[in-house]
This record gives sequence, C-alpha cells and structure tokens, in this order.
Amino acid sequence: MSNSTNLLLNYLAATPQDKIDAGAISFLANIEKVKEISPDIAESIINELRDQRTHLKLIASENFSSLSVQAAMGNLLTDKYAEGYPYHRFYAGCDNVDKIEAEAVKLACELFGADYAYVQPHSGADANMVAFLSILLAKVQDTMLKDMGVEDIAQMSRDDFNKIRDAYGKQKLLALDYYSGGHLTHGYRHNYSSILFDVYSYTVDRETKLLDLDALREQLHEVKPLVFLAGYSAYPRKINFAKMRELADEVGAVFMVDMAHFAGLVAGGVFDGDYNPVPYAHMVTSTTHKTLRGPRGGFVLCQEEYKDYLDKGCPLFLGGPLPHVMAAKAVAFKEANTPDFKEYAANITKNSAALAQALIDRGVSVITGGTDNHLMLLDVQETYGLSGRQGESALRDSGFTLNRNALPFDVNGPWYTSGIRIGTPAVTTLGMGESEMVIIAELIDNLLRHTESTSSNRTRYETDPAVAKLAKEQVQELLSRFPLYPEIVI
Ligand SMILES: *Cc1c(COP(=O)(O)O)cnc(C)c1O
Repeated sequence: MSNSTNLLLNYLAATPQDKIDAGAISFLANIEKVKEISPDIAESIINELRDQRTHLKLIASENFSSLSVQAAMGNLLTDKYAEGYPYHRFYAGCDNVDKIEAEAVKLACELFGADYAYVQPHSGADANMVAFLSILLAKVQDTMLKDMGVEDIAQMSRDDFNKIRDAYGKQKLLALDYYSGGHLTHGYRHNYSSILFDVYSYTVDRETKLLDLDALREQLHEVKPLVFLAGYSAYPRKINFAKMRELADEVGAVFMVDMAHFAGLVAGGVFDGDYNPVPYAHMVTSTTHKTLRGPRGGFVLCQEEYKDYLDKGCPLFLGGPLPHVMAAKAVAFKEANTPDFKEYAANITKNSAALAQALIDRGVSVITGGTDNHLMLLDVQETYGLSGRQGESALRDSGFTLNRNALPFDVNGPWYTSGIRIGTPAVTTLGMGESEMVIIAELIDNLLRHTESTSSNRTRYETDPAVAKLAKEQVQELLSRFPLYPEIVI
C-alpha cells in the first residue's frame, strides 16, 4: 500500500496536532493493519462507515457505540481463554481477565441496582438460554435431586438422569407472542425456546393492541407456567413490572424480564419505579448493544437465589467467555452511569414521542396511537397500501435504514409484514432533537405517499422519482448537520 492511500498517515498529515484524536488514530490504524492481510475486509469496514454516515439509522435495535467501547473490544484480549468465573477459572493466567470481568459485574450491579450480574453471554439470545437453563436447574433438577437423595448428576444412572430430562421437557413457558412484539427466543416455534419448553403465548388485545393484564392474569391461572416472561422487541409501550410480579406470585411462577431493547431506558432512569424490572423480576436478561449503546453482547441480572446457577453458564451452555467484549461491556456500563447518559435516555423517548406525534398528525396509522419508549410501529399497509417489505425498500432507496416488522395479528406474515418499526436510539446519539423528528416524519410520510405497489406479491414498488430524489438530498442535508464519528476523517 502506498502512502497516498494510507488513511492513518493522511489523517496525521492533515490534522493539526491539537485536533488529533486517539479514537480516530485507533480506528484508522486498525484499518491499515487489516489491509496488510485482507484489503477486501478493510474496504468493507470503511464502506460500512460510509454507509452509516449516509443513511439515517432508524433501526430500533441499533445504536452507535463510542470509540472507547470499540477500542476495548479490538485487541489481544480476544486470545484469552477464561472458562469459569472471576477468581475461579479452569485456565492459568486469567489474572487480568478476572479483574475485567469482576469490574464489569460490579459496574452492572451498580448501574442497575441488581444483586448479581453475569456478563459472559455473547448475545441476547445466549443470555436467555443461560437464564432459562439456570431456572430449570434451580427449579427442576435440584428439586428432583433432593427427592432422589443424589448430589451429583454425573454419578446418576442413565435411567435416573433421563427422568430429569423428561421433566425438563414438560415445563411451561408463558411469553409474549412474536406477532405481539415478543422476541424469537420467547417461544417462537422455529426457535430453541420451543424445544426447551412447552410454550404458551399471550398476545396484545385485538382492538387496542395493548397488553391486557386482566386477560393475562386469567391465562396465568389457566396455564400455571414455570416461567412467566415479559419483555419485547416490538411493543411501543411501557410495562408495569410490579403488577406483573404480583401476577407471577399468584401462581408461583418464576418472573423473568428480557429488557434487551430497553436496558438503556432502565439504566438512564426513564423506566423507574414500577416500570423498572430489576427490583421485581427473579431474573433479567439483556443485550448490551441496543439502547444501552455498548458492544454486541448480552448479560443477565438476578436475585441472590439464582446467583450460583447463573455462574454455571459455562460449562452449562456457554464455552469460553469473550474477554475483549467483557472489557467493552465494562466501558459501556461506566458510560451509562453518568448524567450525560441519563440525559441521552430521556432524549430517546422525547424524540420517539415527537416522531410518533408528527406521523400521527400527518394521518399515519401508528399502532396503539403512540409510544412510551424508543420505538413505534407504523401500519404501512393500512396507511399507504404497501407491505412492510415495500416500505422498507422504498425508504432505503432514499437513505433511510429501518426494518419491516410484523404487526399484531398481521395477515401479511413475518416475511412481507404490514408494518415498519422505527426507533430513535441511534439518531438521538447523533444529537438530533424534536425538530429533526418532525423533518424525519415529513420525509418518511411524503416518500411513502408517493410510493405505489406495482406487484400483487407485495414485493415490487415504484416511488415518484422526483420525490425520491428530493428525499435523498434532504436526508443527506440532515445527516451533514449531525456527523457520525466526526473525529474520524477518511
Ligand atoms: C434483540 C433481542 C434479543 C437477542 O439479542 P441478540 O444479541 O441478537 O441475540 C433477545 N431478546 C429481545 C427481546 C431482543 O429484542
């Protein structure tokens, strides 16, 4: 590679000394180092930066992590095996990983006011698997072992162990239906959770599209599940977790909350009191990369009773933890425990409410008539006669990145869908406020109003070229006022 294309050297030559930024150097140096082996991969990373700089990110589950988080993740920590948990490892030389994991655990407990945190899960799906298995160990395996007078499952006969395996398969999970906003890991038929549990689903109300706690109470008494799971990927309202815990207690269910989407709103104090799941749930699972704005990963919080079961995440299900990601989680937990982050979290929901209201003012059908959190669902089938897939593609052509989403009781199914999900965490990180939300609502609505379905299979569409061109320019104008990672010059 000649110096003329060396991004790091170009940056250093062009930037006044007092403007040189460590995050920019580290990013550009990484690119140059990757380039030495894989120019194609280096180019894809740069192109991803360009893509994210030229498209308005409205995906509710995405964000922009800080360069400090990214730097903690991209280094030699990836080389270390550290099966076990802090100060209790199956490998030598884990002193530094011990410190890193212990620090991440401590910061997570402080941030969320939890008794215990387990920060090894590689993703939100893994966090749920660890939580499910920990509950099964505590509630099924241990109870049976006590009855059988056995201490170690490794010492059991095949027949006796199979009795426990049979019992696992009979346990019931009651969780939010996929079409009502539940996640795949909440008992979707094609997901492992349906193999693990005998799954029952609750839905939102057919008319209001809201959770109906009276109906839910009735269903809980009917099903009597081992695990009662709350949390969502696509539900636009806050949930009263104090009330849900009461319902769980009525039937002796373990109350689990998956806060993957709204962990940042909990950390930032937007969801507090009855709406903060941490004091009420026996077990809380989460991702770190959505509203929480950390690295891609997961974690679990639990009350004292489940602590020892969670620590068995490895060997139970996880292999070795990812020390580099745990380091980045610690950085993110620290960032989230600041007044700045509190303000950020408050702004996410202010922006979300402003965007939803601006869309409603323009006549767009917004599910439940608004939002209490970071996301909203638009019924594009009803408003524009477009499938979610057509809406998603038409918007992407003009510089919006967002995703189609099934709506409650969606007749278009999970592939085409009737909805679009919009979230404000990423644009809020860029610094946009309520006036920008009004512009975004205008652009989205105008574009979709000038888009027509041109095939009966809900795939092809045509947007008025003049409208599309103008929207594209206006998106670029908006983005130019809120640059992504402005310190990185390429
Ligand atoms: C995103 C999400 C997950 C899964 O997270 P991954 O990191 O993608 O595995 C789990 N639960 C809910 C509710 C989610 O929204």
